[in-house]
Amino acid sequence: MSWRYERCPPGAGQWGVGLYRDEAVVLRTQKLGEADRIVALLTRRHGRVRAVAKGVRRTSSRFGSRLEPFMHVDVQLAEGRSLHVVTQAETLAPFGERICSDYGLYTAGTAMLEAAERLVGEEHEPAVQQYLLLVGALRVLARRERDAGLVLDSFLLRSLAVAGYAPSFSDCARCGAPGPHRSFSPAAGGSLCGHCRVPGTASPAEETVVLLAALLAGDWPTAEASDSRRRREADGLVAAFLQWHLERGLRSLPLVDRT
Ligand SMILES: [Zn+2]
Repeated sequence: MSWRYERCPPGAGQWGVGLYRDEAVVLRTQKLGEADRIVALLTRRHGRVRAVAKGVRRTSSRFGSRLEPFMHVDVQLAEGRSLHVVTQAETLAPFGERICSDYGLYTAGTAMLEAAERLVGEEHEPAVQQYLLLVGALRVLARRERDAGLVLDSFLLRSLAVAGYAPSFSDCARCGAPGPHRSFSPAAGGSLCGHCRVPGTASPAEETVVLLAALLAGDWPTAEASDSRRRREADGLVAAFLQWHLERGLRSLPLVDRT
């Protein structure tokens, strides 16, 4: 065990372990032993963090319910050798309670949490844009402000863009020729012109490409004016795009309730 006495901030815990506070969204939890849980967090300043929450499965636990998936929390963590330890957790927003009460919100939200975990690279590397994107999307979902499927697709496209995989929905993704173009290839990075087109590319309706561009840009009036056929076509292209970049697709995406 490498105790880090020399790096302790003033007022660090009695054990001499580095303590820090951060805001976080709970991405996933996993049972550990009789009463503990491992929680996967996406934090504002420390990126992805996996930490042990001790005793949270006991009914007497003070912060067990605050460390469920979707919860937005203020946490205090103690550095450990491999896993950090959650020492305090306060609720900032109870997204979990609202999202878990509706199957459509729950499946869309679960796909968001899984995508966030997969698209944020190394643990402990700050990923503030991904964090803010996730908190914003969960808030909109929990308040039922917009169609859950559109919120999910918008989140996935923007999260991919932040991760460095920005799709192109206007100019040709290969040669940059100004669009709009009829062909779309997830593997090539988006729209393709007539010259760059390769066999097997999709040819989505023009309105679908407009919808995808609006979802990426956060242009809600345009996105919400779309009809269900275009939304379904857009869902399929976003899923294909994500699958290409993540190697294995999201396990939770096929469960999303698309109506
Ligand atoms: Zn081209």
